[in-house]
Amino acid sequence: MRAFRLVGAGDARLGDVPEPSPGPGQVRLAVSAAGVCHSDLHVIHEGVGAAWAMPFTLGHEICGTVAEAGDGVSGLEPGTQVVVHAPLGCGECARCRAGVTNYCDRRRELPAAGIGLGVDGGMAESIVVDAGAVVPAPGIDPCLAATLTDAGLTSYHALTSARGLEKGALIVVIGVGGLGHLALQMAQELFDARVVAVDTRPEALGLAETLGADAVVRDGREAAAAVHRLSGGWGADAVLDFAGVPATTAFGTGLLRTAGELVLVGSGGGSFEVTKAGTLPQGLRISVPFWGSRTELEEVVALAARGALRTEATAAPLDEAAEAMERLHRGEIVGRCVLVP
Ligand code: NAD
Ligand code: ZN
Ligand code: ZN
Repeated sequence: MRAFRLVGAGDARLGDVPEPSPGPGQVRLAVSAAGVCHSDLHVIHEGVGAAWAMPFTLGHEICGTVAEAGDGVSGLEPGTQVVVHAPLGCGECARCRAGVTNYCDRRRELPAAGIGLGVDGGMAESIVVDAGAVVPAPGIDPCLAATLTDAGLTSYHALTSARGLEKGALIVVIGVGGLGHLALQMAQELFDARVVAVDTRPEALGLAETLGADAVVRDGREAAAAVHRLSGGWGADAVLDFAGVPATTAFGTGLLRTAGELVLVGSGGGSFEVTKAGTLPQGLRISVPFWGSRTELEEVVALAARGALRTEATAAPLDEAAEAMERLHRGEIVGRCVLVP
C-alpha cells in the first residue's frame, strides 16, 4: 500500500509498504482522511523527534473505518467510522491507565510521542492501532473527523484546562491556522467568548472574520488596541498562542488582565522571560498544554456531532502529500489540509 514516510532528516516521501494486519487487541482501519499538521513540518525539517527510529509513516490526525479486528476485540464492527486518539504513553502509569496518555509520566523515555510521531501513522491506505485508541465518530464528515483528533483535541484541552474562564470571557487567539480556527469556534461554543483573532496572513484573518471573531488584527499593537476596546481597558482573560514564535511570545502576556492565562501551544521557538517584579500581570499563569486525553477526544467528537464545529478543510490526494507539506510550509493553507488515500 502507499504510505507517506519520514525516511531521514528533512526527507519525507511516498513509498510502498506491506499492508499491516492487526494482532490481538488491535484493529486495522481503512484510512479515510489524515490531517497535515504544522507539527509534521517541525518533525520533517526541524529535527523534532530526531531520536525516533526511522522510517515511519507520518500522520497523527486520523479518521478511518474498521476493516479488520484482531483477536479479543469486541464492539467494533467492520465499517464503523472511528477517529484515533494518537498520543502514546507507557500504558502502565496512573495517567495512562486513565486515558491521559498525553501526560504519561514516562513520556520523555518513550520511543515515540504518538501514532504518526515515531511509529506508523495515518498517511497511508491502512493503519493498525490498539482498539482502545479508537473513538467511534459515526456520521461526521471524515475530513472534519480527522482534524478533531489533534487540531480539535489540542485546542479543546488548551481552552478547558485554562484557569477560570467564564461565560463571556475575552479570549485572544494568536494564529488562526489548523488549530486556531477550531479554537476560535470552541471559545465561542463553550464560553460564549468574545474573540480577538491575530494572524499575519489576510486569508487566515478572512476565515476568522467568517467565523465571527469580534476583532481581527495583524499584530501585537493592533491586538492591544482591540483588547483595550473590548475589555474596557482591563485586558483579556486568556491568550492562546498557536504560533508560539518569538514575534508572538513578545506580546502575548501584555494583553492579559490580572491573573489571566497565557496558553502556549505553538512550537515556533518563542520564549518568555519570567521575573517577579517586572511588567507581567500579577497572578499570571503560563501553561504549556500538550494534546489531550481520550475522554476529551470523545467530548470533541460530541461537539462536532451536534454541529458546533466546522473545519475549513482542503482535501488533497495522499499522492500529493509532499506538495501539501510544502503548501503548509509556504503559508498557503487556509484552515487544515487533509490527505485522502
Ligand atoms: P498552521 O500553520 O496551520 O497555523 C499557524 C498559524 O499561525 C498560521 O495561520 C500563521 O499564519 C500564524 N502565524 C505565524 N506567525 C505568526 C505571527 N507572527 N503572528 C500571528 N500569527 C502567526 O499550524 P497548526 O497546525 O495550527 O499548528 C500550530 C502550532 O501548534 C505548531 O507549532 C504546531 O507544532 C503546534 N502544535 C502543538 C500541539 C500541542 O499539543 N502543544 C499540538 C498540535 C500542534
Ligand atoms: Zn499535530
Ligand atoms: Zn504512562
